[in-house]
Amino acid sequence: MHQSSKTRDRMGAGVLGPSYQPTPSEKEECARLLAGLRLPADVGRRYRRDADEYLAIFSQAGKARRPSGGALKFATRRCALFRRDYLVAYADAAWLLEKAPGTNAFATPAVWLGPIESPPLILLPQTKEHCHDPAFLSILEHELIHVHQFLLGTCPTAEPATTAGWLKDLFGFTRAEYEADMIQLVRCPLLYDAVCRNHEVPLQQFCALRGYASSMEKVFLAMAAGRLAQGELLKLLDGLPAALPAGFRHIGLDEHLGLAFARALPRYVAATLEVLTKLAPGLSQALRPNALMSWLEAQAQPGADRGLRPEGISPPARSPIQQEA
Ligand SMILES: [Zn+2]
Repeated sequence: MHQSSKTRDRMGAGVLGPSYQPTPSEKEECARLLAGLRLPADVGRRYRRDADEYLAIFSQAGKARRPSGGALKFATRRCALFRRDYLVAYADAAWLLEKAPGTNAFATPAVWLGPIESPPLILLPQTKEHCHDPAFLSILEHELIHVHQFLLGTCPTAEPATTAGWLKDLFGFTRAEYEADMIQLVRCPLLYDAVCRNHEVPLQQFCALRGYASSMEKVFLAMAAGRLAQGELLKLLDGLPAALPAGFRHIGLDEHLGLAFARALPRYVAATLEVLTKLAPGLSQALRPNALMSWLEAQAQPGADRGLRPEGISPPARSPIQQEA
């Protein structure tokens, strides 16, 4: 996948040096978030029953051929964090990359095979079927957190098609990613060590940044795929700066961080387009419609940033370990 073998080897060998030690308050935040992810007994039971039924139907055939291509092999995987078994589907790595550029695992609220809807599950590359590498298991845990969010209804499950919908759900996606990253990186800081080598951005801020960046990627991928009209996207970009501080406060994140992101919006838009173009070169044209390019140019005019300066927070580099979009 996108993780280079070099990075993988280095991480596996621990060449990156001693791992980050989360602070007591970061551990507390992790515990607080985990407490909110506990499944009520009836929700857990229903999921288990649905997963078992689904597995029983499709394990008879061994593999289910999807009409859009990509065979899925269903199985369960045990998770040490939640002490539960979860439904997963192994798929062809190339097909997975096409579905979600830059990922090597992703949680989805459902897949449909014919008329049968699955419970939330995780799509994984076939090559990871027997993988128990700590870095990969930590990604798997991250995705399982999304499964809990789907079951609890705390993560949006569909992309909105309008500005108003996105303005609301962008914060929902950001919160969900922040939660998954914060728990993942407190428990296993490998990714934090690899991306933020000197830990100069505090862990909580790093996770908020990743959550926000990943939500922005969703918006632009939706536009590139024609699921969000260009006019709606521009309305969203114009409305976002005013919405960011209160939106961040609403999801329990620092509103000053929201304000800093608002001030740096054009920079984030440009960075997001660059990241996505690298991950999915085929989308290069679709990611840069004229209207969006004109918007970016207008933002670059003197005075367009209303004299505000970004406060030293850079868009995050894409991590060497990628997870779902
Ligand atoms: Zn995630």
